[in-house]
Amino acid sequence: MIRIENFINGLHLPPRVNSYLPCYEPATGALYAEVPDSGPEDVDLAVLAAEQALLIWSGMSQAQRHDILMNLSYLIKENLNKLAQAESRDTGKPIKLAKQVDIPRAVDNFKFFASSIMHFASESHHMPGVQAINYTLRQPLGIVACISPWNLPLYLLSWKIAPALAAGNVVIAKPSEVTPMTAYLLSKLCKEAGLPPGVLNIIHGAGPRAGQALVEHPKIKAISFTGGTATGRRIAKIAAPQLKKISLELGGKNPNIIFADCDYDKALSTAVKAAYSNQGQICLCGSRIFIERSFYDRFKADFVEKVSRLRIGDPSKASTQVGALTSASHRDKVLAYIELAIQEGGHVICGGEVPSLPSQMSNGYYVAPTAIENLSFDCRTNQEEIFGPVVTLTPFDTEEELLLYANSVSYGLSATIWTADVSRAHRLAEKVDAGIIWVNCWLLRDLRTPFGGMKDSGVGREGGLEAMRFFTEPKNVCIQYGA
Ligand code: NDP
Repeated sequence: MIRIENFINGLHLPPRVNSYLPCYEPATGALYAEVPDSGPEDVDLAVLAAEQALLIWSGMSQAQRHDILMNLSYLIKENLNKLAQAESRDTGKPIKLAKQVDIPRAVDNFKFFASSIMHFASESHHMPGVQAINYTLRQPLGIVACISPWNLPLYLLSWKIAPALAAGNVVIAKPSEVTPMTAYLLSKLCKEAGLPPGVLNIIHGAGPRAGQALVEHPKIKAISFTGGTATGRRIAKIAAPQLKKISLELGGKNPNIIFADCDYDKALSTAVKAAYSNQGQICLCGSRIFIERSFYDRFKADFVEKVSRLRIGDPSKASTQVGALTSASHRDKVLAYIELAIQEGGHVICGGEVPSLPSQMSNGYYVAPTAIENLSFDCRTNQEEIFGPVVTLTPFDTEEELLLYANSVSYGLSATIWTADVSRAHRLAEKVDAGIIWVNCWLLRDLRTPFGGMKDSGVGREGGLEAMRFFTEPKNVCIQYGA
């Protein structure tokens, strides 16, 4: 049994109340670790440590902060296998995905923002008529909270803490209590990287207790949150009266739009990937697939055939393509949505059940990759975020009809459009409600681009300059140099 500890002021500490929450291995359902059930008293301790560290960290040169964050990046890379194994065990995701996507991306996040701070320039505005010049200082905010979810634990945690630290802030992070392991391992690398104590503090525990205490704390200046829309609203409600800065990356129900003139093989194989990568637990997954009617039947048949060849099972096996969902409660929620889809008149064309797997995995949280057709675009299955290996297939005839379907949801995170017609691609990219549009690709990421959603998918953007601006306070200085 692994006992996870908080990381406060450079030390690994038990929670003040000394109580722990269970941590299960999704592949088998076995209890394998315990995680601190932290509360306000632990947050207070972390705030104290962060306050003391702020002067030291914000007073360092950009080059010094760059070096330390690069050290962290190298250390994550050196420990890639160990971290990937921990991530796979903790989340149920295939080890191959953890090795190829999750951990390399954490390496890149630190590398990217370490170099960003070396290139980050602030604005200057000249007023020649009155012989004055304005320059904008971009100063650290102070103590910031970074709250991340369970689907891409180290990937999303580092996506927040790297820019926050690069900009000179001190951080209190709260990973999901469901998947705390890689955040714990990261905390063990901080000392070796040369991060001064108190600069990064990691509080483990349940959202409504530890997370909420962090959000409520008056000394927290900004909250960067990724998670569900309902939680995002709750955080916004608490943060607003205290006038805290917030960045909210929330849910999605993303359309994957496929026209008959597409590169068929690429669109087909990417549609399968966009549907079921990480068991469909990526906020960017294409869960509503809209297919031009003229080739709907052919596409459907090939899609189902490809899905039937996916290897489901033990996430620790190199050949596994679909692992377990992250928790039993989430598995139950996904299965309930499949039931709902059937009640709504849906026809399950593949999956729809718990797959039969070897006995050691019989208590794991598996759901077979599922596709459903024959549903109206505005039914609950097509409107609500399922966040699992469940997609719907819907034919369309015209662009107008397609836009009605695609934009009918309350979310607006990402969309993918498959077409060889450049004019159509531009036309639709302008009209589809989403913060991120991919044309003839999916999940192709350039870390410099604005990342985030519109409508119920969030407030603000992460990535590149957007992140550096979020984590800094602009202060304009106007100097008149003439008479
Ligand atoms: P939750 O909103 O339940 O949780 C996210 C984080 O917030 C967790 O660390 C959670 O802690 C914490 N939390 C929960 N309640 C509170 C609270 N009252 N105050 C402060 N913190 C709280 O989301 P999930 O973990 O279920 O993640 C899945 C969701 O995240 C999906 O909706 C998905 O679309 C979205 N997501 C969005 C992304 C984007 O970039 N837009 C990317 C990835 C996911 P704990 O888990 O310990 O309770």
